[in-house]
Amino acid sequence: MSLRCALVPALILVACLLCGCISTDKPTSAEETSGINVVATTVPLGHFSKMVGRDRVRVDILVPPGTNPHTFEPSPSKLVEVEDADLYVKNGAGLEIWMEKIIQANGDMLVVDSSARVDLMETTDSDDHGHAAHPGDHDVHENILMADPHIWLSPKNGMIIVENICRGLIEVDPDNADFYQKNRDDNLSRLRELDFELNSTFSETDREEFIVLHPSWSYFARDYGLVQVPILESEKEPGPRYLAEVVEVARRKNITTIFVDPNFNPKSAEIIAREIDGRVVPLDPLAENYIENMRHVGQEIASSLDG
Ligand SMILES: [Zn+2]
Repeated sequence: MSLRCALVPALILVACLLCGCISTDKPTSAEETSGINVVATTVPLGHFSKMVGRDRVRVDILVPPGTNPHTFEPSPSKLVEVEDADLYVKNGAGLEIWMEKIIQANGDMLVVDSSARVDLMETTDSDDHGHAAHPGDHDVHENILMADPHIWLSPKNGMIIVENICRGLIEVDPDNADFYQKNRDDNLSRLRELDFELNSTFSETDREEFIVLHPSWSYFARDYGLVQVPILESEKEPGPRYLAEVVEVARRKNITTIFVDPNFNPKSAEIIAREIDGRVVPLDPLAENYIENMRHVGQEIASSLDG
């Protein structure tokens, strides 16, 4: 080996050390050393995980933004992300009909069920679509009672979810229990404040009924004494008779706003809006910034209930 051959790599090494592309420093953040890998089913659950774990957690989202979680199927590349997870935050309440695949991809991680201790509401579905509790059972024609999975869309449930995630993080990383508990408490008080605000907003509105395309807001309605009138029957496009019924409710109750979920085809909502000379307003159940979004949702629904 010539001197020149030996020198070039040595020079490259020196240059790298000088410019910092090989790090000889001690790791700078918890994230690089002992951070916790979290995979959460949805964007809001990822957001709750960040609220509690802050810079100690790396969060991957299984159902990408803009994807309908009810019709989602995990791809092989998504399952690879799950392989490195220490903690999986699932929604529960029947949303993850593919949970078996997740467990198969990583049997060692702790699975936190966000819906644990949530007072679940029931919904009915008559076939194999959407939140079906019996995905393999395609021949059932009677209505099946099952949990409504949209638990996160209530700040009161949000507090329970934060506590569930905190418990999970402490289980996988007990040395940092104090850190997680402090973040939990900070966020519980923010959520309590939001709940208080929404309570006072809805104590003064004229009406209780609001029309939505996809019935995501059942828990929200329960918490604030409202009535959600869905356009999609059990997640399916409505027939003409049901559409006429919704139009009738809107006319009788003087409702002029139809709320749509950006993850669903707005066609039937637009038909109704045209019929009642109303407007279509989007409400995103899967928005990133939870508290800001829920405040926005509260204002939009409240203003539709007045006048
Ligand atoms: Zn939904």
